[in-house]
Parts: sequence; structure tokens; C-alpha cells
Amino acid sequence: MAEIAIVGDGPGGLSAALFLARSENSVTVYGIDATVMHYAFLNNYLGIEAISGTDFQTAARNQVEQAGAALSSEEVTAVSVNDGSITLTTESGDAEVDFLILSEGKQMPLANSLGIQVTAGEDDLVPVDSNGKTAIDHVYVVGRSARPSRSQAIISAGDGAAAALDILSEIEGNDVQDWDSPPKD
Ligand SMILES: Cc1cc2nc3c(=O)[nH]c(=O)nc-3n(C[C@H](O)[C@H](O)[C@H](O)COP(=O)(O)OP(=O)(O)OC[C@H]3O[C@@H](n4cnc5c(N)ncnc54)[C@H](O)[C@@H]3O)c2cc1C
Repeated sequence: MAEIAIVGDGPGGLSAALFLARSENSVTVYGIDATVMHYAFLNNYLGIEAISGTDFQTAARNQVEQAGAALSSEEVTAVSVNDGSITLTTESGDAEVDFLILSEGKQMPLANSLGIQVTAGEDDLVPVDSNGKTAIDHVYVVGRSARPSRSQAIISAGDGAAAALDILSEIEGNDVQDWDSPPKD
């Protein structure tokens, strides 16, 4: 069983958590529910006619908890990677994890502290692949952090899901897709 930490409880972090929590791994999302979603009113989230960002967050947090992830209201104050070992610091102390997803939102001080920097240009470029994977083993950056000029809730949620499936595929050693079928009567 892998220990997976997600920093950030907006749509990016929570979507990653939902996919990961449906596996047999231990998943913790860190965040104090201070996402800018609380200023949003969504009319452009596929499958939902219209919903306030706050109602969306309440539903998403409940869904993630019901799937088995832990929601921690602690702020992560530091992350470090030494000899492949990933450590995360909160006021409760240090925790070692196997995988780290950073979904910090507009600013990304923790990612910056690991040397992950936006290259400013015509478009801002964040050095991650299409699954949010960084050059540091087992460390991902997703959502608004990874796409500073393309910030939409559904894009962040998609990014989180892609990172989660990439992590599950690495753990399983083969490509993972999380597909369900409707129950038979
Ligand atoms: C006024 C406004 C209206 C908007 N309207 C829409 C809209 O209509 N449709 C739409 O699609 N999008 C809209 N958006 C954009 C949408 O809110 C963002 O795209 C979305 O919130 C990005 O999600 P995210 O998960 O990438 O980042 P965020 O939602 O920013 O989440 C990041 C989270 O990480 C937490 N965090 C950061 N660092 C730490 C740390 N060290 N420890 C613990 N937690 C940490 C933050 O507190 C935050 O909760 C709007 C935004 C604003 C401001």
C-alpha cells in the first residue's frame, strides 16, 4: 500500500484524491478549504447545469471522504526530497510519503522550493508532462499551478485525475483506467 499526499483541496487536489482513494492506497489531502472556488459560480462544468463554487466544494469534499481519503485541515509548511525520499511537514511534524501531488493553486511556493519554476514566455510553461509528472520522481504538479493561464475548475479536475491514474499505473505496473458499469437489476 502506498502513502500518497495531496497538497491542495481545490478541484485539482480533490479530483486526484477521488481516483486514488478508490484504490487500496492511503490518501491524505491537505488544505483548509480556502480555494478561490468560493468566489466562483459554475455555469461551465460539464454535467452540472449550474452550481455555486461553495456547493461544488462541499459535494466534492464529501465524495472524496466517502471514497476513503482523509481530509486534513493542516497547512503543509515544507516539502523536501532527499535520496528519493519525500517528506512533508505540517505543525504536527514530518510525514514520509511515496507519492506527492502539489495542487497549490495560483501560487506554488512548495513546488518552487523543490526547484519547479514557471518559465515565463508567450505562455507560462510549467515543467510537467501531460500527467502532471515533474522531473522529480513521484512528485506531480497539477491544476492551476501547472496551467497558470488556463484556470478552469474542470481543467484542474482533469489534471488531478490524470496524475492519479499515472500514479496508480506505476503502482500496479500496468495502465490503469477506473471504469465502472451500471449495476444490473
Ligand atoms: C471570481 C472567480 C470566479 C471563477 N469562476 C469560474 C467559473 O465560472 N468556472 C470555472 O471553471 N472556474 C472559475 N474560476 C476558476 C476556478 O476557481 C479555478 O480554476 C479552480 O479553483 C482551480 O482549482 P485548483 O484545484 O487548481 O486550485 P485552487 O482552487 O486554487 O486550490 C488550491 C488549494 O490549495 C490550498 N493550498 C495551497 N497551498 C497549501 C498548503 N501549503 N497546505 C495546504 N493547502 C494548501 C489552497 O488553500 C486552496 O484551497 C473562478 C475563479 C475566480 C477567482
